[in-house]
Amino acid sequence: MLTILPVPILKDNYVWLGHDGAQAFVVDPGDAEPVEAALAALGLNLATILLTHHHADHTGGVATLAERWACPVYGPDSIALVTRPLHDGDALVLDDFGLRFTILAVPGHTLDHIAYFADGILFCGDTLFACGCGRLFEGTAEQMQASLARLAGLPDDTRVYCTHEYTLSNQRFALAVEPDNAALAAREAADAATRLRGAPTLPSTIALERATNPFLRWAQPTVAAAAAKHGATNGSPAQVFGAIRRWKDIFV
Ligand code: ZN
Ligand code: FE
Repeated sequence: MLTILPVPILKDNYVWLGHDGAQAFVVDPGDAEPVEAALAALGLNLATILLTHHHADHTGGVATLAERWACPVYGPDSIALVTRPLHDGDALVLDDFGLRFTILAVPGHTLDHIAYFADGILFCGDTLFACGCGRLFEGTAEQMQASLARLAGLPDDTRVYCTHEYTLSNQRFALAVEPDNAALAAREAADAATRLRGAPTLPSTIALERATNPFLRWAQPTVAAAAAKHGATNGSPAQVFGAIRRWKDIFV
C-alpha cells in the first residue's frame, strides 16, 4: 500500500515522500534535513530519489541524501548528481512501490524539466501548479503551452503533486483572469480554509486544474479576451498562454 505525503521544506516547497511502510522514495529533495527527519519519524529506508529539474530548491539535498542512503538518483541528465538519466517516453518501474512511471519531457520553466506520470499520480515539479504554472526561466511560451497541454490531457482523476504551495496567490491572479468562474471561486474558498488550518492545498487533480487553472484554459473565450488585453496578437493557444503568463509576471 503506497502512501504519499508532503514534507515541507525551505519557504514554500514540498518534497513528496512515497512509502510502503518500510521503503521510501522522495521527489525533488531541495533540503536533506527535513527529509531525514521525516524518514526517521516513520522508520523508513530511502530507496530512490526522483528529480524533475535542476533548480537548487529541488536538488539541494540530493548529495547528502544519496551519500547517506547509497540510493539511485533519477532525473534529467543535465544534473550532475543524477545516476539514472531519464528522457521523454522512458518507462521507470519502481517495483517496491508497484509504480510504473512514464517520463514526460515538459520544457518551459527550465529546458531540462521532466514529469513523472503513473496511474493516478503526476509529479510535475514546477511546471503545473494549483491554479498556476512555473515561470518561463529557460523555455518559450510555445514550449510551456505544449508541455501544459500534455499534462492537461492526462486522465481527469490523476492526482497532481506540485512542488510549491503557491495556491492562494495563484488563485488571486486566476480570479482576475476569470472573475466569473464559479468553480474557481468555490475552490479558492475551500483552499483558503485549508491554509487557515495550516494544511497543504495539494495534491490537486487534472480535472480540477482543467476547470480552474487559467494556464490550461487558453480555449475559454474569457481567458482569450483577457489575453488580448495583455498583448496576445491572436487567439492561438501559445499566444493566449504567453500573454496570461506575462501578465502574471507583473501582477501584484
Ligand atoms: Zn524551479
Ligand atoms: Fe521550485
